[in-house]
Amino acid sequence: MVAYYSTRDPAKKLVRFEEALLQGLAPDGGLYVPDHVPQLKPSTWLEARSLAELGVRVLGAWLGEEVPLPHLEAILHEALNFPCPLVGLSEDLFVLELFHGPTLSFKDFGARTMARLMQYFLGRRGQRRIILVATSGDTGSAVADGFAGQENIEVVLLYPKGKVSEVQERQLIIQRPGVRSFAVEGSFDDCQRLVKQAFTDPDLAHLPLSSANSINIGRLLPQALYYLWAVRQLPTPPQKVNFAVPSGNLGNLTGGVLAAWMGLPVRRFIAAHNANHFFPDFLAGRAEPYQFHPTIATLSNAMDVGAPSNFERLYVLLGSQELRRLVWGTCVDDAETLARMRQTYQRYGYVACPHTAVGLEAQARYRQETRDPTPLISLACAHPAKFPQAIAQALGLKPPKEAALEALWQRPTQVQTLPPHLEALKAHLL
Ligand SMILES: *Cc1c(COP(=O)(O)O)cnc(C)c1O
Repeated sequence: MVAYYSTRDPAKKLVRFEEALLQGLAPDGGLYVPDHVPQLKPSTWLEARSLAELGVRVLGAWLGEEVPLPHLEAILHEALNFPCPLVGLSEDLFVLELFHGPTLSFKDFGARTMARLMQYFLGRRGQRRIILVATSGDTGSAVADGFAGQENIEVVLLYPKGKVSEVQERQLIIQRPGVRSFAVEGSFDDCQRLVKQAFTDPDLAHLPLSSANSINIGRLLPQALYYLWAVRQLPTPPQKVNFAVPSGNLGNLTGGVLAAWMGLPVRRFIAAHNANHFFPDFLAGRAEPYQFHPTIATLSNAMDVGAPSNFERLYVLLGSQELRRLVWGTCVDDAETLARMRQTYQRYGYVACPHTAVGLEAQARYRQETRDPTPLISLACAHPAKFPQAIAQALGLKPPKEAALEALWQRPTQVQTLPPHLEALKAHLL
């Protein structure tokens, strides 16, 4: 059975998945990583008939001893009940559309699965949890949607005021049972810092706090599944495949690395960052590990992260040398993002959101620089309809209408403003 230890524990004391999931962050402030990764045969993903079925086969190998198969099946068929199509742009370039879930970003995969896994364990224990989540846009709505209405779970959302799009904000603040939203007067890093501080504050120690950020192992495991499902959908099973991953906190990329570790034949991951440059700098040897920087605001705001939390996981699991071998990184600025959105539309008739465009620009650079002919799958992380202003700016048109978004404007909202201080958050929690 797979067990987990904290990235900061030299003794590597092991805990079960249940404990890692319900705690989120380890007590020493580290992140939980698996002690080993189950090795899977290609037939595990190549013969699956749906993403949910693939999920049962794969996660069964990780969790089978903690979540009995009939429960795992119910959880995954309910959580992963939306399409995840692979769209061919050319013979060797594909886009994996991860935005067909209820809140229209890839965060739905992790959040919906994690919510149901948590509910399973909490229900068995007869316990409650308060999910404290910092979001730069898409996490909060996916978590709010995934967890809303679960009797044992309350959600507290923190997002940086004025730094998410109008549509993203509306998705965050609509009323949902058991969900409270706060607009923090600060950056995403402030929100993330508040969450980290709350977890170690003695005054809050008696509260059953838990996290649902990409620091939670329960979100990472489901994010490995769609990499396998993408390869399953390729017209011919390739020798090797590359993935371009629009990245911020590096949770999506970490999911991919787990998939590669399970046996998926990946040659290269392309870590596509916006102006937030830490990870590409690290990969190129221009930055030391953990030499983070303040967040820079960009058009692809769900990737505006100066200090990617999952770097600690990747670094502890792989080390510098292996990371630099497996991952190629680059930074794409806003002008290049808009230009790539335009080119993608002109060349392929494909409307990409700014995050997706950062990935498409990065893979184009990678190919030009390396001449690597390996087929490439670029992850499409959010629906373009979430970013009407960027679409208008780049393409001069309105994004395709999306019924799930249109309906948002009819629903009542709730939100409170919060100064970026722990005391202010504590006053609300206590
Ligand atoms: C969260 C998000 C990202 C970044 O993913 P990480 O796991 O934080 O690297 C990219 N694009 C979109 C649309 C997102 O919501």
